[in-house]
Amino acid sequence: MSVFTGVKRIVVKVGTSTLTHQTGLLNLRRIEVLVKMLSDLKNAGMELILVSSGAIGVGVGELGLKEKPSDTPTKQACAAIGQCELMYIYDKLFSEYNHKVAQILLTKDVVEQPHRKENVQNTFNRLLDMNVIPVVNENDTVSVEEIEFGDNDTLAAVVGKLVDADLLIMLSDIDGLYDKNPRQFSDAKLIPHVEKITEEIRALAGGKGSSLGTGGMITKLNAAQIAMDAGFPMILLNGQHPDLLYDLYDGKEVGTLFGRLKGSVC
Ligand code: GLU
Repeated sequence: MSVFTGVKRIVVKVGTSTLTHQTGLLNLRRIEVLVKMLSDLKNAGMELILVSSGAIGVGVGELGLKEKPSDTPTKQACAAIGQCELMYIYDKLFSEYNHKVAQILLTKDVVEQPHRKENVQNTFNRLLDMNVIPVVNENDTVSVEEIEFGDNDTLAAVVGKLVDADLLIMLSDIDGLYDKNPRQFSDAKLIPHVEKITEEIRALAGGKGSSLGTGGMITKLNAAQIAMDAGFPMILLNGQHPDLLYDLYDGKEVGTLFGRLKGSVC
């Protein structure tokens, strides 16, 4: 059974390591494949929301900095620069497939306050009615500690909850969840399905992610928990090969599925 069976509304999250080279500059080949795959899912009748990281990383690349800055104002400045570049490239590539994009930047307070939350939901719903692909990121310019999601894995799951998604697809730089760190152990095995996030599963998560991004496996598990609590599954997939989305569509077992598929009985 394809994970897309009975699925209409999908949130796809893509991380900095998928979108950029080590330099921070855009990995155009990968983005082009990703946009084509996503456009095809849309053509197949799905509603799509893209949660895209990469603003800070791309800003770092645009400015030619050697590494991700550690101070908040410089990070925010990088995000402001990189976000423009990201939206430019999404707009350009999606329009080649006749799809329109819209930018939505969120902070945590927005979803915690009922009135603001309703406005956000109304905007998402109207954009989806208009057949537009909302491209979401944290509003890094105003996100300071008290109101930040902190990582886009959490943001993607929260967005999934806000829009009542059927499925969350998390594109990362790893094939899925392994029984031990595959970068250290050659006999590490991919876990195809996680029904429940137990302490044992959390213990497999290890440390942080890439040098330009924010997350790591632990934030993926937190996102999966939010999704499962809200009643929709999450699939963790390797974003370095965006064409895996076709395998997924064709019903092949790729990545790690967290929770139950829509329509599955057991
Ligand atoms: N909002 C940050 C950015 O776009 C990303 C946070 C994350 O990597 O999860 O660069």
